[in-house]
Amino acid sequence: MDTSAKLDIAQLRINDERLWDSLMELAQIGATPKGGVCRLALTDLDRQGRDLVTRWAREAGMTVTIDKIGNGFMRRPGRNNSLPPIMTGSHIDTQPTGGKFDGNYGVLAGLEVVRTLNDHGIETEAPIEVAFWTNEEGSRFVPVMMGSGVFARAFTLEHAYAAADAEGKTVRQELERIGYVGSQEPGEHPIGAYFEAHIEQGPVLEDHARTIGVVTGVLGIRWYDCVVTGMEAHAGPTPMALRKDALQVATRLMQEVVACAHRHPPHGRGTVGMVQVHPNSRNVIPGQVRFSIDLRNASDADCDAMDADIRAVAERLSRETGLPIEITLVSSYPAQPFHADCVEAVARAAQALGYSHMPAVSGAGHDAVYMARLAPAGMVFIPCKDGISHNEIEDATPQDIAAGCNVLMHAMLERAQVV
Ligand SMILES: [Zn+2]
Repeated sequence: MDTSAKLDIAQLRINDERLWDSLMELAQIGATPKGGVCRLALTDLDRQGRDLVTRWAREAGMTVTIDKIGNGFMRRPGRNNSLPPIMTGSHIDTQPTGGKFDGNYGVLAGLEVVRTLNDHGIETEAPIEVAFWTNEEGSRFVPVMMGSGVFARAFTLEHAYAAADAEGKTVRQELERIGYVGSQEPGEHPIGAYFEAHIEQGPVLEDHARTIGVVTGVLGIRWYDCVVTGMEAHAGPTPMALRKDALQVATRLMQEVVACAHRHPPHGRGTVGMVQVHPNSRNVIPGQVRFSIDLRNASDADCDAMDADIRAVAERLSRETGLPIEITLVSSYPAQPFHADCVEAVARAAQALGYSHMPAVSGAGHDAVYMARLAPAGMVFIPCKDGISHNEIEDATPQDIAAGCNVLMHAMLERAQVV
């Protein structure tokens, strides 16, 4: 490769307007009066969205493969097609009150990368693929991140096929109805590396006035049920010193959930979102309180530390008050750090392009979480207005949309090698 070719690649930028226009055109399928999108997985609208995106891919010279769970792989060949593809992607299904950018941005940014390479006749050593994953949102069918989850063998194809919506229609029936059951076995598709561009869906980038979030990983989650047991008694005749007030103890522990998150910075999160007081009567001292605890952090070790912390606090409170406190883990999702090579490739691209950037963690799940089990993976975040997502008012600026796509392109090109 001569120096002038190298310079050309460094100068390469996507077509901002074309990417924006494609986003706006796809957003018309299932458009809501408030400016959002309702395009639930495996509906007729989802089919129309898939048809449009795959048509665009074919027009860009890509081949399209669909697997048995309806994941789509749009491929631009490389010079050496025995190499596993450098992949990007996301999802095009939305929440019932979804926005134009969640998921759709990641898929169309991938398409824009390919269109840009085509414009300039740039060849890569490894093939490039753009994936759209079935039912990421999990709004109509559970589990969430279904297509990428089956692909990564987090659960079986049969389990996903059997999932039914509120009307009893199954994933299998609906995939067949919209014509998106492919022949490829999910997971039988090599990946060299995976990148995903996504709106942040939170307020941190905006708060720090940064354009690019270099995502280092996705937070692990621990969900607990907590029960504090006291003794119901009449609110009048029972003097303060002789009470076993479960709510007074529970609220102290609830404060500690938040304090625990503060004790494990910078990524600790602690939330009590659900509370049941028994018997929930104005003139009865609460005899039992049940509440949820949601703890998150960036590594499993940090999650373990928060677990030990909150349990120690509960034990101390129980000793002090004489009231039994039970904490039961009900579910747990491991933290998913992204691969250092991919994280660094994203950071290098942001730096070289001159965009303000900062490390970021994702508090929400993404298809990239499952891909990270299979291949080196990384994500690019861009700000969304007021940090709002899963809402029809979800918004992002054309400048940030373009910046994230340029970062995606240069990170992918580093891995795919320009020839
Ligand atoms: Zn998403």
